[in-house]
Amino acid sequence: KYYEPHQVGFQSANSGGKIPLGLKSKTLRIVVTGGAGFVGSHLVDRLIARGDSVIVVDNFFTGRKENVMHHFKNPRFELIRHDVVEPLLLEVDQIYHLACPASPVHYKHNPVKTIKTNVVGTLNMLGLAKRVGARFLLTSTSEVYGDPLQHPQVETYWGNVNPIGVRSCYDEGKRTAETLTMDYHRGAGVQVRIARIFNTYGPRMCIDDGRVVSNFVAQALRKEPMTVYGDGKQTRSFQYVSDLVEGLMRLMEGEHVGPFNLGNPGEFTMLELAQVVQETIDPNARIEFRPNTEDDPHKRKPDITKAKNLLGWEPKISLRKGLPMMVSDFRQRVFGDHKEEEG
Ligand code: NAD
Ligand code: UDP
Ligand code: UDP
Repeated sequence: KYYEPHQVGFQSANSGGKIPLGLKSKTLRIVVTGGAGFVGSHLVDRLIARGDSVIVVDNFFTGRKENVMHHFKNPRFELIRHDVVEPLLLEVDQIYHLACPASPVHYKHNPVKTIKTNVVGTLNMLGLAKRVGARFLLTSTSEVYGDPLQHPQVETYWGNVNPIGVRSCYDEGKRTAETLTMDYHRGAGVQVRIARIFNTYGPRMCIDDGRVVSNFVAQALRKEPMTVYGDGKQTRSFQYVSDLVEGLMRLMEGEHVGPFNLGNPGEFTMLELAQVVQETIDPNARIEFRPNTEDDPHKRKPDITKAKNLLGWEPKISLRKGLPMMVSDFRQRVFGDHKEEEG
């Protein structure tokens, strides 16, 4: 049996996400690890806007100060350069634990560091949650399902992960992080939440992080061919970042531990994605085929019934609606970069 959550300073703790997120009894102190990254910085914006005090903990491996700079003058915002692999002492009410590179290119760059971040980093943040009685939310991933043999993926599916492959540092790292989270919950009574996030895109993604949406958008803007790996028939389901942030906050404030799939069930082949990018940016954008990477999952699509029923959450922004918002951010940054290079 799971532990019941008790009040940690906000009225909606037992509301199952039904009370609007704005209705709180007091300002919360919230840590967001990885808060200078893509997803983290959008989450920080929402928490600050809601009136909470936010401490971002980030080592800037893939995050950027520019993503959170607009909060620097706000007394409710603090930024700490810190690697979560090292212990950290803070007094807080909630911990959103996002610190971990998410792009395959980044997490394969130093696989042992990726495992340490997922295992030792998560252990430290759980130790912190235990010491101060904070609620802890882990951002796990659809990669825990590996190259799935069930489609779409339901939370009860245990997955099909290669334990010794090039993606294992991330997949197995996150699986261990989930295990640690549940063991701190069962063993030490820590209030925990687990989100399994599916491919997410939006403004502030690293331009050259190697993920497919950022690659195609940057390539089409620069008039370079879009690089489709393999035959392009593999599928992914793409979620706009604001939908994810809403899901994470509902999960944190609801009464259910999870795991919950948070993703948009709209499924696309990589060739279909390239077509949507063509429609959005440049109908003449070319496609170039490249060899696929090792252990690439063939398909991925979330079953979000559980999140719909228990969190009252579902994504609102389709790929065709979300992509233009990302493109305008990329347009500014890609052409801004060019100006810098020229000048
Ligand atoms: P990101 O790379 O933009 O952000 C990760 C952040 O963590 C960066 O700011 C980075 O500097 C920081 N970080 C990395 N290692 C750290 C360490 N050891 N100590 C402190 N900070 C560290 O990636 P993102 O897309 O924002 O992903 C955020 C979280 O969501 C990750 O945990 C990722 O696994 C998870 N996730 C994301 C997606 C997605 O599609 N974006 C999908 C599944 C899961
Ligand atoms: N930890 C931390 N901050 C805290 C409390 C703990 O970083 O406020 C780290 C601590 O250094 C340890 C890990 O979290 O490495 C697990 O802590 P826990 O108390 O659960 O285990 P123990 O210290 O007994 O191994
Ligand atoms: N991909 C692609 N071209 C690229 C980058 C990626 O075709 O320039 C493919 C990749 O092979 C995978 C899918 O897009 O099948 C999603 O890759 P991504 O790295 O974005 O995320 P993943 O879901 O694999 O973690």
